[in-house]
Amino acid sequence: MPDTPLTESPELKGIAGYTSPYPYLDRLQEKMEERLAKRVPVGGRFCGFCYARLRDIDDVCPFCATSTSDRPTVREIPQDVLRAYKARRDTEARWVYGLGFVGLIVASVLFVLMEVWGPGPLGHPAAGFAVLLLGGYVLAQFFGTFLGGQFGYSRGARKRDTLWAAYLEKRDSSR
Ligand SMILES: [Zn+2]
Repeated sequence: MPDTPLTESPELKGIAGYTSPYPYLDRLQEKMEERLAKRVPVGGRFCGFCYARLRDIDDVCPFCATSTSDRPTVREIPQDVLRAYKARRDTEARWVYGLGFVGLIVASVLFVLMEVWGPGPLGHPAAGFAVLLLGGYVLAQFFGTFLGGQFGYSRGARKRDTLWAAYLEKRDSSR
């Protein structure tokens, strides 16, 4: 385990055996990725605790339940906070692409094995190409989207949560 878990033994539940100790981070992930991709305006009215974008009528954050009278809203999401969400996204993407590539390699190896040693119809180039194309697709999905998604999620979420914990500590110890 390359990352330091926040708790000694994270309970085995949730996606890929990892449950974030900060459930609002998971719910904010998609919105923060939109912000990272600059698909939404940079400025706005954000929760002073978790930096969720609030509507003008919100006086309690729908993500972390902090009231705006306890913590005044801010106009931008701090860079350190965005970096934490970026770490989660990038880690997951690396696992999905990396393991997806492993799936393609497995399909290529199968293709070569079939061409060289495949008996009867299995050795026919058509069967080999079917394995290469269809098998490549299925294996890339399985290794990348399924396995890579799971590993990437739990490793990425741990990374994000560790960065967020450090950010909270820095922010709130100087209050
Ligand atoms: Zn909030």
